[in-house]
Amino acid sequence: MKLKFLTVKRKSIVAILLCVLAIGAFCGTYFPIKASTSPKPLHTIVIDAGHGGKDGGAVGKTTGVTESFLNLEYANTLKNMCKEYGFKVVMTRSDMNGLYSESATNKKKSEMAKREKIIKKSKADLLVSLHMNSFPSVSARGSQVFFAQGNESGQALAESVSNELNKHIKYAKKTAKVGDYYVLNCTQKPAILVECGFLSNAEEEVLLQDKEYERAFCYQLLCGILQFFKM
Ligand SMILES: [Zn+2]
Repeated sequence: MKLKFLTVKRKSIVAILLCVLAIGAFCGTYFPIKASTSPKPLHTIVIDAGHGGKDGGAVGKTTGVTESFLNLEYANTLKNMCKEYGFKVVMTRSDMNGLYSESATNKKKSEMAKREKIIKKSKADLLVSLHMNSFPSVSARGSQVFFAQGNESGQALAESVSNELNKHIKYAKKTAKVGDYYVLNCTQKPAILVECGFLSNAEEEVLLQDKEYERAFCYQLLCGILQFFKM
């Protein structure tokens, strides 16, 4: 009888200890303010705002907004969210200037080489490249996530981000896709290119410039990254 009581008591103590550990783990993981006070950043992320300088990328017909401007807006919002969570963030560009050398004859090549250099030097654990889409058919809309063929960790990241976008972003495409992009092919790290929406769709062109939408979108991107890191 006494032995049984002791067994029960020991089981209870183990259960209480497990609960305490679980609550501790939950707090450490889910409270961003706690994470940001840690002296060592959780992970390093490169955020790449596509285009820049003379290369404005896609242009919205209704408002004249450029892709390079919106890419930077989204990149900055995502950067702030990631930093708040405790990640170290490296930006490939943080203003509207192009990454190419002014003297370069092939500016696109020069720009891509610079992006690659920043990505490699950062020793980041993960890359997110941000773009806005455009298509001849004005009805095309919705975000889509791309990864490089054969990059398994890139595919896993793309699927996590795509799943999270699908939860709250209305026209987000259901699945991530293989994409042949220089910025994805230049690294073996988990890397994705996110086309946030279509500037060729009049309604989406306006929506993409809505600050609330931008924050909601970037929040889902962050959730996808956290899912990928199993955080
Ligand atoms: Zn683009």
